[in-house]
Amino acid sequence: MPTHDTVITKKLSGKKVAQFVYSDLEKRISSLAQNGVIPTLAAVIVGSDPASQVYVRSKMRKFRKLGLNSKTFFLSGKSTSEEIVSEIKGLNNDDRFHGILVQLPLPDGIDSNAVLRSVSVKKDVDGFHPENVGLLSYGNPRFIPCTPKGIFRILQYYGIETMGKHAVVVGRSNIVGRPISAILSAKSRDANATVTICHSKTDDLSSYTQQADILIASAGIPGLINGEMISNGAVVIDVGITRVDDRSDKGYSLVGDVDAHSVDGIAGALTPVPGGVGPMTIAMLVENTVEAAERSILT
Ligand code: NAP
Repeated sequence: MPTHDTVITKKLSGKKVAQFVYSDLEKRISSLAQNGVIPTLAAVIVGSDPASQVYVRSKMRKFRKLGLNSKTFFLSGKSTSEEIVSEIKGLNNDDRFHGILVQLPLPDGIDSNAVLRSVSVKKDVDGFHPENVGLLSYGNPRFIPCTPKGIFRILQYYGIETMGKHAVVVGRSNIVGRPISAILSAKSRDANATVTICHSKTDDLSSYTQQADILIASAGIPGLINGEMISNGAVVIDVGITRVDDRSDKGYSLVGDVDAHSVDGIAGALTPVPGGVGPMTIAMLVENTVEAAERSILT
């Protein structure tokens, strides 16, 4: 077990970094407007999963607030994979839309890979198409998935060195764990970390997390990471968002993978939940859509 001298745990505010991203995007958005282009996103929701509806609504709200366009396409939960693919192909060919987002998870029985493969690689603002995944692994990304891109931006904004550091990623999903591992281990001046990926079959998780200079917790298990599991001064990025029922007015709260109370005074820095990685995921979706719109006038 590591020994701990008390440190002051710095809060890494994703909200603040997102504001910085939006003000940076203003110039790009107005220069697109001068060319008669308003970045526009199509979101596809299949079925009636309440969490998916909430996530998409908050993304759309942000687009509206920034003067960008978006439209949500609601498909029945009874749609077949072929019907969803056909809808997406229509959006691929519709010049009004620069970006297409398919809200995950898709209902059981849907071939998610076939659906994600059907999104045009030029409109794939979530970066989930295998070609875009491949380009990221290759070190020459086109679209980087929003959550890992947002995590990396937080590290950059706060000047957290990754070169030669040991980053331990808990979770190996295609949405978070794998792409953040690819980003941090990239052979580039602002990455160059040594990355260990852990998952549900990892034996003795603590023995890895305790070695982390940077710990990315993305398992979706509330409180999985506590103060005993990290070393003094570690930078801890809490990606987890789990809705836990409670007695508050809302009836629930959003809880991360990190027991924030127990890592306080041990971690060198920590992203809060909410207000950490979440706002950056939306900011990166906006940025990727602006990028897609910019590329659309170059081609
Ligand atoms: P996911 O697809 O369920 O993947 C979870 C990963 O965690 C899997 O690789 C799983 O291992 C691993 N895992 C589960 N239990 C574990 C344990 N006890 N020890 C070590 N690893 C364990 O989830 P996801 O989509 O990556 O999302 C992860 C969390 O991030 C969720 O809470 C999600 O809501 C949140 N999230 C937040 C944002 C945001 O904007 N802040 C965006 C995306 C996701 P196996 O592969 O072996 O199953």
